[in-house]
Amino acid sequence: MKTRINALLTSPKRDIPVQVAGWVRTRRDSKGGFSFIELNDGSCLANLQIIAPATLANYEKDVLNLHPGASIRVEGLLVASSGSGQSIEVKADQLTVYGFSDPLAYPLGKQKINFDRLRELPHLRARTNTFGAIARVRDVLSYELHRFFHERGFFYVHTPIITSNDCEGAGAMFQVTTLDPHKPPRHADGKVDYAQDFFGAKTSLTVSGQLEGETYACAMGDIYTFGPTFRAENSNTRRHLSEFWMVEPEMAFADLNDDALLAEAFLRHLFQAVLAQCGADLQFFDQRVLPGVVARLERLATAPFGRVTYTEAIRLLEAAPVTFEFPVKWGMDLQSEHERYLAEEVFKGPVVVTDYPAEIKAFYMRRNPDGKTVAAMDVLLPEVGEIIGGSQREERLEVLEGVLRDAGLNPAEYGHYLDLRRYGSVPHAGFGLGFERLVQFCTGMHNIRDVIPYPRAPGCMRV
Ligand code: ATP
Ligand code: MN
Repeated sequence: MKTRINALLTSPKRDIPVQVAGWVRTRRDSKGGFSFIELNDGSCLANLQIIAPATLANYEKDVLNLHPGASIRVEGLLVASSGSGQSIEVKADQLTVYGFSDPLAYPLGKQKINFDRLRELPHLRARTNTFGAIARVRDVLSYELHRFFHERGFFYVHTPIITSNDCEGAGAMFQVTTLDPHKPPRHADGKVDYAQDFFGAKTSLTVSGQLEGETYACAMGDIYTFGPTFRAENSNTRRHLSEFWMVEPEMAFADLNDDALLAEAFLRHLFQAVLAQCGADLQFFDQRVLPGVVARLERLATAPFGRVTYTEAIRLLEAAPVTFEFPVKWGMDLQSEHERYLAEEVFKGPVVVTDYPAEIKAFYMRRNPDGKTVAAMDVLLPEVGEIIGGSQREERLEVLEGVLRDAGLNPAEYGHYLDLRRYGSVPHAGFGLGFERLVQFCTGMHNIRDVIPYPRAPGCMRV
């Protein structure tokens, strides 16, 4: 049975036989009749040093042909290392090669390779230090988000990916169809007849699980969803993906303040969890990707979040001694530069902006008594900008119907949603957190396309 390298590194045991298996990072041959192999098995950032003596029966045939990327199994003795740079090493008694790797062809040899080039190799980049570390941080964050909600009695609900809901308004949608794109069936007026499509209706990939999440919250109390969401916007930025993962809690009998408190506790829990569990990987990001990223996480893991209304935020931005690309005016949507200014310069930490103008927010957000704003909130982080968007939902039937009519929408088409307001309506609130924005923040990675294994973005589909 193989032991994983991270288990060996954290165990005090020495002078015991072990088996390890992984991929060769480097091989160096010494004159003394040994080869040194740096082995990585993905379990942690650190490599394990293997000492392969020339006395191995297959030394010339196999060991001397090992190059970066080759896969091997080693049986040997785990010993304290006398060399600098590692605490343990394995003296090989047997070395088995699963697969060789051609050093002239393997793209991840010794030469340095930048993130742009690695994006063209999504099937191999997990074998690099950076992308292995990102994958481990993603794993810890997703495990911990489930833990956070479960410990608070939230139920995990699986909301659909294919939907006929186009009322979410969160973003442009990708259509799902099995109709022949060259000659779809048409009505007399030339419009496509979706009654003949696979589901008998026009369908798309979901942009959010919120509406379905609300229906479960209004039965089970507190729920959350965590799944992929899809947005067909042509936003070629370092913060937008076409396919990204979203965490969406929804709480019954809760208002905007409860929502903001949940968001704060949630982020704090996740920051503390990565700090506690991803130490070596975070140190790597701190040294190689973004100096200061660990100190930033430590700060935010305990810092109270700032709170400001949109109206007050606009006033702060108008008074700011900087010129923004997009001029500041009440009623505008905050741009990334404004969000970052608020978080980085004004609050010097996370800040929750609440009560946005109704005009720029979704129809389902609860109207405030002022008639102009809604009970919405965005959580802004330094460097990343918006990471969470949420709101208290409009639970008053007549108000919601009025909002729909004012927007030129037909309330009859929102029957399911309005039913929640017809039968035992309750105040409820929730938010959506972009999981990749969170990973970006924790790792300091500049481009969101580097924190998801297979990025989907406009014009970008490598594998
Ligand atoms: P933004 O203004 O940054 O484009 P949004 O207001 O459209 O985001 P919401 O609809 O509020 O986003 O979605 C909730 C969260 O999902 C956001 O706070 C953000 O963290 C994340 N998110 C939204 N769009 C994307 C995207 N295209 N790629 C990655 N994450 C996203
Ligand atoms: Mn938003």
